Order: sequence, then structure tokens, then C-alpha cells
Amino acid sequence: MTIEVRNLVKKFGSFAALDGVDLKVDNGELLALLGPSGSGKTTLLRIIAGLDWPDSGEVSFNGEDALAQGARERHVGFVFQHYALFRHMTVFENVAFGLRVQPRAVRKEEAAIRARVKELLDLVQLDWLADRYPSQLSGGQRQRIALARALAIEPRILLLDEPFGALDAKVRKELRRWLRSLHHEINVTSIFVTHDQEEALEVANRVVVMDKGRIEQIGSPDDVYESPATAFVHGFIGESI
Ligand code: ADP
Repeated sequence: MTIEVRNLVKKFGSFAALDGVDLKVDNGELLALLGPSGSGKTTLLRIIAGLDWPDSGEVSFNGEDALAQGARERHVGFVFQHYALFRHMTVFENVAFGLRVQPRAVRKEEAAIRARVKELLDLVQLDWLADRYPSQLSGGQRQRIALARALAIEPRILLLDEPFGALDAKVRKELRRWLRSLHHEINVTSIFVTHDQEEALEVANRVVVMDKGRIEQIGSPDDVYESPATAFVHGFIGESI
């Protein structure tokens, strides 16, 4: 699934959170959206997912107008920074949730739901935690469950909003590596939001740098590292040398 965003503008009052954003994401790509806090990354993700609406501009999926569709029709998986797991449900039921609330016409039978959840828990290597509750899991485990839940509906697009931001450095590093290999396996068009330059350069095959509601640079991790167009990335390189 390709994603194309054209001249997207989103205002909150007179403030433009997105100030004319153009972006194309290729089928199967894992793209990192990098930028300082407040640069418009989450706003862009929410509009692509159908959780918010732009003032003007276009969003299309494989050439079809996505803005004409509601969030559910867009078939997008979303992973939030703070897991957003249901506390009163077991891990199994959390992952099954998206399948149980699908419209009746496409909803799977119970046996098929159970088989799919098992497959997903195997994929994130946490099958052994199926009967636990979120409060009994570590942060890294919770985020892997959140990812399994987002993948349950076989999304055409996967959006990850600072998915590892709440975790400590060691777990974050492990999960980055794991996400890269998982992405290789499932091959879903994905956008990964982060304000951590190292994370963006490590995880993605292409990096988009945003600042103040605009895209400042698009390039391979090497391009962005070697010839940064913004002070934000400069700051990182200065620190890391
Ligand atoms: P980022 O994800 O890069 O940190 P956001 O997209 O969350 O940035 O926010 C971009 C800007 O828009 C910020 O200045 C933020 O305060 C503002 N903003 C985001 N959502 C709202 C909202 N619902 N109401 C008012 N301002 C908002």
C-alpha cells in the first residue's frame, strides 16, 4: 500500500500544526518520521489514520482518496507510546479485541479468532503470556502486545507513534532490532514516529525530518546523518562525535 500526502494543512486556532506537508511512502517501506517535540509528527499520523481531519490537502492510499473514508475503513494499525492496552482484559483478549469489534459481515468465527491471536502471540514471541493481565507485564512486553493487537486486523498500514518512548534505553535498543526484523517478515507499509535521531537512523530505510509543521529533509539514514539539513539533526551529530 502506498501512502501519498499532498499539501496537508492542519490548524489549531491560528497555529498551523501542519503547514503544507507533501510526502510519499512506498509500499512495504519502514519510514521514520523524525523531529523535535511539537513539530507535527503525531498530527500527521492521526490524520493518516483517520483519527483527525485536515483543514486542507489530500491523503491517498494506493491512489484512492483516504479522507473520504472513516478510520475503520482505512484499515490502519496504530501503536501508541503508552501501549493503551485494556487493563481489565487478558493479553489474549487485548489482541483479540480488534477482531471481535469488526463489522459482522467480515468478523471471523471464534475458532478463527483464537487461531489468529495465537499466531500473533507467536509472532511477537509472547504466547506464554496469553492469560496474564497488562499490569503483570514489563514495558517491553506490553509494547510487543500492543503491536500484536495493531496487527490483528491485518492492517494495510502500520503507524507507530513513539512506540518505545516510555521504555528504558536497553529495552528500546532490543525492540528496535526486533521491529526491523519483524517488519521484514510482515512487510506492511509503516511509519515510525520518533524524536530520537539514533532510533530513526537505526530503524528505518528512509528518514523524514519535520520541523514546525513542515518537512525539512527526506533521505536515507546515511544522507540524513552525513548532510543534515536542520539544526535539530546537527545537534545530534555534534553530541555523538
Ligand atoms: P509532535 O508529535 O511532533 O510532538 P504534535 O503533532 O503532537 O507534534 O503537535 C504539533 C503542534 O500542534 C504542537 O504545538 C501541539 O501543541 C499542537 N497541537 C496538537 N494537537 C492539538 C490540539 N488538539 N489542540 C491544540 N493544539 C494542538
